[in-house]
Amino acid sequence: MILIIGNGISGVTAARNIRKKSDEPITIISSESKYFFSRTALMYVYMGHMKFEHTQPYEPHFWIKNRIELKQTFVESIDTDAKTLLCTGGELLHYDKLIMATGSKPNKFGWKGQDAKHVQGLYSKQDLENMEANTQGISSAVIVGGGLIGVEMAEMLLTRNIEVHFLVREKQFWNNVLPKQDAVFIMKHFEKHHGLHMHYSDELEEIHVDESNSAIGITTKNGNKIDCQFVGLTAGVSPNIDFIKKSKIETNRGILVNRFLETSVKDVYAIGDCAEFTDAIPGRRSIEQVWYTGKFMGETVAHTITGNRVEYNPGHWFNSAKFFDIEYQTYGDVLSNLKEGESKFVYQHPKEEILLHFVFDTVTRRFIGVNNYGIRLRHLVFNAWLDKSATIEEVLEDLASANFDPEFYKTYESDIVAQFNTEFGTHIVAAKRKWWQKLTNA
Ligand SMILES: Cc1cc2nc3c(=O)[nH]c(=O)nc-3n(C[C@H](O)[C@H](O)[C@H](O)COP(=O)(O)OP(=O)(O)OC[C@H]3O[C@@H](n4cnc5c(N)ncnc54)[C@H](O)[C@@H]3O)c2cc1C
Repeated sequence: MILIIGNGISGVTAARNIRKKSDEPITIISSESKYFFSRTALMYVYMGHMKFEHTQPYEPHFWIKNRIELKQTFVESIDTDAKTLLCTGGELLHYDKLIMATGSKPNKFGWKGQDAKHVQGLYSKQDLENMEANTQGISSAVIVGGGLIGVEMAEMLLTRNIEVHFLVREKQFWNNVLPKQDAVFIMKHFEKHHGLHMHYSDELEEIHVDESNSAIGITTKNGNKIDCQFVGLTAGVSPNIDFIKKSKIETNRGILVNRFLETSVKDVYAIGDCAEFTDAIPGRRSIEQVWYTGKFMGETVAHTITGNRVEYNPGHWFNSAKFFDIEYQTYGDVLSNLKEGESKFVYQHPKEEILLHFVFDTVTRRFIGVNNYGIRLRHLVFNAWLDKSATIEEVLEDLASANFDPEFYKTYESDIVAQFNTEFGTHIVAAKRKWWQKLTNA
């Protein structure tokens, strides 16, 4: 019997991939919902672009056909000696192998009023339902913490004509991830949004409540008082592992795992947002809290559990998100500050909201990474360039290969190359999709 706690992308990917190779009984447990749904799509439900049912990638018969049992209950504790889980209501479940895929929870930092009514994070289906109820008929909200979920929450609230005050502790938006030029570009974009009030270099001091313990305003560390009827807490997330801390499984910030996703206890594995590598892959974080890394970990652990023990190897870093109307992608390693021996090349379109930020090795010219905003570039092509250690010149010459839409892209491409030639004294010429032609001819 294989038990999986958590029906998010990590747990579900593990179950699907184990089933492809094994007939062992599999049960997925989650307290949040019976069926797997896409957490990244929650904002679109609030904004009315889709119904909650549309966020569920698989129909109910999929689980029956694949003989994956779904159980909606909460796991209170784990006894790794007896190999059992104790669920709410006293049900005891036995496992031969256990996969923990318990995800994250929104951070709270002990602010006064953080548990009041109309104060919440945005992570779960229940958070979405609470947000729907908590924002009915309100006119003003405060969001605490400047990351991607905060931006999503701001966009959601603005679509309902709710005034948003967004507190960002740092001088620049998402400054631990974005280089300064990129952050400034995004901050300019924020200014365009009517009803959005950004407060940089300021943070939450206290949430004020009325006699019914509902939020009515906040005070910031800088002494600003803001009236509001809703407070969104989006100051990051941490692994959701409180109930595991009582077990024999070793934890730190997350559940500690080796590169094989094995925990300190035999036959117990951890994957996705809740896992913390004791020995992180060089250049990557020890806890990876994004969709595709959860998926990769699910695939990896499925190999191991079905007899082919393999290490987690997610390849080159990539990520994508959206800052209101600007799409953002990143391939390879673009850090907020250049490392020694690295150079950057930044192209910003004079009129349109397009920015590309390339990083490369100053001496060898090896392309290290790119952040692109307002323009979509192909993952497959950048991955190939990173794999073969292409130089920055090779990448720029053939940038059209990475473009989804070469017809519209032509002008940017020659402008980008021209600017690079001016800045770096090179004489490269933009080619016509060399790499892509090679691939499609192959
Ligand atoms: C609003 C939002 C937007 C996001 N957007 C993006 C994006 O654009 N791109 C991106 O890469 N990532 C995004 N993320 C992050 C991404 O969604 C997560 O990295 C991913 O969903 C984590 O998957 P997981 O399977 O590890 O855990 P989860 O999806 O969190 O699933 C864990 C499940 O386990 C359940 N569980 C936990 N403990 C127990 C217990 N004791 N008993 C029973 N059940 C339990 C939880 O209730 C939950 O259902 C976003 C996250 C949020 C919240």
